[in-house]
Amino acid sequence: MRRAIYPGSFDPVTFGHIDMIERSAKIVDELVVAILINSAKNPLFSVKERVSMLEEITCHIPNIRITSFDGLLIDYAKEVDASIVVRGLRAVTDFEYELQIAQTNRIINSDIDTMFLTTSLEYAYLSSTIVKEVASYGGDISHFVPEQLIDRIYAKYS
Ligand code: ADP
Repeated sequence: MRRAIYPGSFDPVTFGHIDMIERSAKIVDELVVAILINSAKNPLFSVKERVSMLEEITCHIPNIRITSFDGLLIDYAKEVDASIVVRGLRAVTDFEYELQIAQTNRIINSDIDTMFLTTSLEYAYLSSTIVKEVASYGGDISHFVPEQLIDRIYAKYS
């Protein structure tokens, strides 16, 4: 069984993440979407809220599991028996950082490889940070996130 892990903050999940999840779930047998618990980041949504948002919007994908983890990604990948880490590349600026992380992970555990998917063009600009920025001013975020999440995001700023 080919199992991959797709780690991220997903704070909140965007159409860019969903696109990555749908595409990578087609390539592997099982995709574990893993929310990084990073207390230093001061997230907008709790881990529990992010898990339920991800579960809701991926319920049409059969071979997927939503989890959360803290500590080193490479240790968690081993724990869930994943041999592939999925990451997205939006721009050259993502590349340098991602390359360094992927190479570091290969040194720590050479059984685990990183698979990069390039962003779909229509989501190349999109990040959770952009969504939060626009939502904080009450702007229209319907192009960025699924409809059922919109009120939950605005509620954080009301
Ligand atoms: P992190 O804090 O790890 O960057 P994110 O939740 O921002 O977490 O992103 C998780 C992963 O999804 C990263 O690999 C990122 O490059 C990818 N990603 C985020 N937005 C997009 C997008 N619009 N298109 C493709 N990949 C994306």
